[in-house]
Amino acid sequence: MELVSLPALWAYWSSKDRLSEQSIREVDWLSLARAMKALPANLQRWTPKHISGMTGVGKLLAIWNRSAMSSCPRCSSCPVEDHLHVPRCSARTAAAEWSKRHLAFRTWMQTQQTAPEIEVFLFEYLKIVRQPSLGVTTVRAWSHQLHLFRSAISSQAELGAQGLLEGLVSHKWKHLQALHFSYIGSKKSTNLWASRLIQQLIRIGHYMWKDRNQLAHSEDSSWYTARKREIDSLPWA
Ligand SMILES: [Zn+2]
Repeated sequence: MELVSLPALWAYWSSKDRLSEQSIREVDWLSLARAMKALPANLQRWTPKHISGMTGVGKLLAIWNRSAMSSCPRCSSCPVEDHLHVPRCSARTAAAEWSKRHLAFRTWMQTQQTAPEIEVFLFEYLKIVRQPSLGVTTVRAWSHQLHLFRSAISSQAELGAQGLLEGLVSHKWKHLQALHFSYIGSKKSTNLWASRLIQQLIRIGHYMWKDRNQLAHSEDSSWYTARKREIDSLPWA
C-alpha cells in the first residue's frame, strides 16, 4: 500500500509548497511508510485523500454540487470549509473530540515508554494545530540530551504542527528515543515506536473527520438549520 499512498503524499506536499527541500530531508519517511502499511485499509485510503484536501469538505462539495453549502457543518464561523479547518473547528463537539484524542495521545506515549521530553514536546506542540498563536517557542521541556533535543525540535518545527498531525514526524526523534530505551533498559524497537507514533497522529485527524461527519448528518448541523430555514421561508410552508 505504501507504494500507492506515499508517492501521492510526497507529490502533494512538494507541489503545494508545504515542504521545502530542507523539510523533506527532516521527515522520517521510513517510519511513515511503515505506519501507512500498518493502518487499516480505510485509513490507508483516507489519509492521502484528506491530506490533499480531496475528502468531501464543504469547499469541494460546493464545487462538485452547486446546491451544496461550502460552510462548515459544525460551526458558524467558517464560510468555506477546507480540510485544514476540520481539526481546528471551534464547534463544541470538535473541541471535545480534540481534547479527548489529544489527552489519549499523551497516555499512549506514556504507555509506550516515550522519552519524557519527547512526550512533553509533542503533546504541547500539537496544541498549535488549534492555537497557531502559541508557536514553538512557547513549548517548554528539558532533556538530558539537550543538544539532540534542540536539534529535533528545530527539525520538527520545519514540518509544522499540521505536518505533525498528518504524520510528518522528524527522523531525529528516533535517536533520542533509542537513547531513552537504552537508559531505562527497555528492549522495545525504536522503529516500531516511531511507526506507531505516526499511526496515533493520523488517527487523531481521522477521529476529527468522523466527528465532523457525524454532526454533518445530524439535526444539529448548520447545514440542516440553513436548509430548514430555506424550506420554512417558502410560501407554501
Ligand atoms: Zn467549523
